[in-house]
Amino acid sequence: MTTSYTPDLPTLRSGLLDAMSELKDQRAILRDRLIPSADPAVASRAADVAISLFRVTTLNGSIDSFQGTTLTGWETRISFAPKTGHHCACPDWKNRQRACKHVVALAERAIQHLVLKEHRGAQAIEAMDEKVRLLQNEAHESLRQLRC
Ligand SMILES: [Zn+2]
Repeated sequence: MTTSYTPDLPTLRSGLLDAMSELKDQRAILRDRLIPSADPAVASRAADVAISLFRVTTLNGSIDSFQGTTLTGWETRISFAPKTGHHCACPDWKNRQRACKHVVALAERAIQHLVLKEHRGAQAIEAMDEKVRLLQNEAHESLRQLRC
């Protein structure tokens, strides 16, 4: 027989906050370090790049990498461990060893993904807090009725 253990509400709530803060930190790395590391002329061409296949890999519950295949067939990757790095199969990346337009496009797609996840986390916390408030009110009302 297996037993399942569900952590208590404060533990779950702080788990959600920790996970959201990790997503926010990764988003800041992409926005403030990775995208600005590209040549501005290259970054401006990223809007023309379509990512046809977007994948996220995780390791022990944390995002380990974002991978994308562009519509033109280039395989591109952004990884976070052991440190933030990127790679693309295109000639521009190979020649310059700097973020190409595909890497920038993947970073922008990844930012959208992170924003959505952070938003879902915020909604989960809001819903949880609301239910806790309702239960507290009910319990308070029951107590009041028992005592009168
Ligand atoms: Zn590229």
